[in-house]
Amino acid sequence: MKRIGVLTSGGDSPGMNAAIRAVVRKAIYHNLEVFGIYYGFQGLIDGNIEKMELGSVGDIIHRGGTKLYTARCEEFKTPEGQQKGIEQLKKFGIEALVVIGGDGSFMGAKKLAEQGFPTIGVPGTIDNDIPGTDFTIGFDTALNTAIDAVDKIRDTATSHERTYIVEVMGRDAGDLALWTGLAAGAETIMIPEAGEDIDEIINRLKRGHKRGKKHSIILVAEGVSSGSEVAQQIEDRTELETRVTVLGHIQRGGSPTGRDRVLASRLGAKAVELLLAGEAGLMVGIENNKLVYHAIEDALEKKASLDQEMYQLSKELSI
Ligand code: ATP
Repeated sequence: MKRIGVLTSGGDSPGMNAAIRAVVRKAIYHNLEVFGIYYGFQGLIDGNIEKMELGSVGDIIHRGGTKLYTARCEEFKTPEGQQKGIEQLKKFGIEALVVIGGDGSFMGAKKLAEQGFPTIGVPGTIDNDIPGTDFTIGFDTALNTAIDAVDKIRDTATSHERTYIVEVMGRDAGDLALWTGLAAGAETIMIPEAGEDIDEIINRLKRGHKRGKKHSIILVAEGVSSGSEVAQQIEDRTELETRVTVLGHIQRGGSPTGRDRVLASRLGAKAVELLLAGEAGLMVGIENNKLVYHAIEDALEKKASLDQEMYQLSKELSI
């Protein structure tokens, strides 16, 4: 093998740049040529591909976003789209590919591997929702961004005696809401994996208010409900004044934390190592601080499970 490609796909996450850098540098270290594919699978179909040198990834380890840009591409979900992508790879003489992205991107990587093109997936998403790895690249940065925001909201919540509802990202996965809630001391955490009854939440708020509690912070993952819907229900059924903050895309940006940079560097380099060893159709991950790999299809078949012990702890500490 002489030439490999690398792309980022789906939602961007802080640390993707560090992963690209690791793939490029590790490959060049092992005398491989590396090609960057711009705009994910869309760029693959379009042949938006460029050779990368050591300097191509200089000065990006500390930057959020992705130097290779990203995209969502419906066409790549079709066998014809995948074939177009493979033809482009062949045209550039690229023999193997590293795909950095979330579970959707892993589906694309799996399809390429099934069609005989050696592909390795690197988990990059702030959602932390990929089975087969304890952490995904970007989760730690997003967590720290969300904690910082909630800490600031807490100051104003205390001053005004209001109930604040903070909506964080997480369509199907509650990790970001749960970890942020636990770390920032939220009173209530609403996550997709554990349907907490709104009646119970309202009763708890009323009890807290009665015993003189000045403010409450409710963290809601976007997959459960919108912050404004939760606020409306509380205002309709209590005397409490509410305010809603939707953290939105600030959770995706920012300089990656040290943890994310190290994780991205380790996972990106591991992906190249696996390709050099002739492996394909795998995803890399980290479990108990050890680098691991699994068949992508096995990982995709499973559902990332919520840490029940942590969820229970968040409830016990917020009585
Ligand atoms: P995030 O979870 O952070 O949003 P993601 O990688 O899951 O990231 P998606 O939009 O789900 O983001 O997927 C990214 C891209 O992967 C899609 O736009 C598409 O090009 C490709 N993809 C998704 N599903 C498939 C599939 N079933 N077959 C082939 N390609 C797919």
